[in-house]
Amino acid sequence: MTGPAPIVIGTGVPRVRAAFTTRAGGTSTAPRASLNLGAGTGDDPERVRANRTCMARELGFDPVRAVALRQVHGSAVYLADAHGGRDSFAGALDGVADADAAATRHPGVALAVMGADCPVVLAWSTDGSRVAAAHAGWRGLVAGVLEAAIAAIADGGGVRVAVGPHIGPCCYPVGDEVRAALQDRFGAGVRRGQAVDLGACCEAALTGAGVPPERIDRVGGCTACEESLFFSYRRDGGETGRQAGIIWIEEAA
Ligand SMILES: [Zn+2]
Repeated sequence: MTGPAPIVIGTGVPRVRAAFTTRAGGTSTAPRASLNLGAGTGDDPERVRANRTCMARELGFDPVRAVALRQVHGSAVYLADAHGGRDSFAGALDGVADADAAATRHPGVALAVMGADCPVVLAWSTDGSRVAAAHAGWRGLVAGVLEAAIAAIADGGGVRVAVGPHIGPCCYPVGDEVRAALQDRFGAGVRRGQAVDLGACCEAALTGAGVPPERIDRVGGCTACEESLFFSYRRDGGETGRQAGIIWIEEAA
């Protein structure tokens, strides 16, 4: 059996580590095979715990201090202190707060945000002093979750961002109401026929929040098209797992 195969992001900052997970190398069975990191997905909690602990070991962060959230499609940002998630990530699995984004300035506190089509966005200050992670589905995007996450770490300095794998416009036709909400907020450039490009929505939100386009890295990939790599809520009719975007500041040795 092969192990986890996360997509590691080069942050350009020595102590800031960031990665997007894939579904490979976990313990969960179909339809959540195999590295399901989402609690409350109908999966066996022991398998979710094992998958989360395994990913923490693989990437090298502390699972006890790692932050997991109860994601509610809003714009609240959980500001994590030095205790981080208080064992909510791989222990109780209950999430430390109702929020779709988290930010911290504390080394050793990893922020883990889940998605299964929705973009997960990781952001860090270029001086390496602060990091943030956000779940940017269409409701959160309209509510301003990315602007809120960037505001939580900006502090007058530079910010860099990685937009994780998400459902592409190839697989994301939406109803008139959703399309109108996103187009009103982010402009006609995000529309692709009957579909919307959520990555373009993220870019528009981020540039609106003051992040220069050249500091926004889109990892690419479509969660719905790439079944061997990613969970997709839409493709799998809701019965699926979750991948994560994870970011943290390494503690000084
Ligand atoms: Zn697709």
